[in-house]
Amino acid sequence: MGKAILFSAPSGCGKTTIIRELMQYFDCFGFSISATSRQPRAGEVDGKDYYFLSHTEFKRRVDQGDFLEWEEVYAGTCYGTLKSEVERLWAEGRVAVFDVDVNGGRNIKRHFGADALSIFVMPPSVEVLEQRLRSRGTESEEAIAKRLGRSAEELKQAPLFDVTIVNDDLPRAVAETRRVIEDFLKN
Ligand code: ADP
Ligand code: 5GP
Repeated sequence: MGKAILFSAPSGCGKTTIIRELMQYFDCFGFSISATSRQPRAGEVDGKDYYFLSHTEFKRRVDQGDFLEWEEVYAGTCYGTLKSEVERLWAEGRVAVFDVDVNGGRNIKRHFGADALSIFVMPPSVEVLEQRLRSRGTESEEAIAKRLGRSAEELKQAPLFDVTIVNDDLPRAVAETRRVIEDFLKN
């Protein structure tokens, strides 16, 4: 079994941005590409950002037992980590890096225990989170409202993670995350 690093936070807190920066720094990282039943956003590539599946195909793979974990993160929209993805990354000798919702982060941490580091990315405030979601410009008003609606409950779960990183100033947050990961990988 290899090592795992999980990033969780409400949508818009900056997980993807921080992971992208860290992927350039840590050669050993391999991003675990999740499956989702949502539509690709402009610029998203199947097999790179996500495996985009129809709802029926997603459910078929659930029934087949292909997922390590999965969640209906938003009503009618499922996301999940494929067992084959983690096996692929570990077979390549990589540290598996996950961008998952808060429940997914807790489930994967429970599964891998001390071999996993769970990181919660905290926005400086709920107002800033809302601004970031809007300025990203990738979601409709309805999708933004769904994401914000979930965020209060998710933010309360931060103490259940190994580490919390406040994503205020991006270079500072990335540097702090790097230090925490370097410590974890030493052991
Ligand atoms: P998530 O993956 O958690 O949904 P993103 O990484 O997509 O979040 O970030 C949401 C938006 O906020 C993006 O437009 C991103 O460029 C911006 N962003 C991320 N971190 C910061 C930061 N520290 N300061 C300002 N804007 C940020
Ligand atoms: P988005 O639609 O913004 O890409 O992702 C929405 C939410 O789904 C984010 O919180 C993201 O972390 C989460 N997510 C992405 N992949 C997975 C996964 O494999 N499992 C779980 N549980 N959540 C995921």
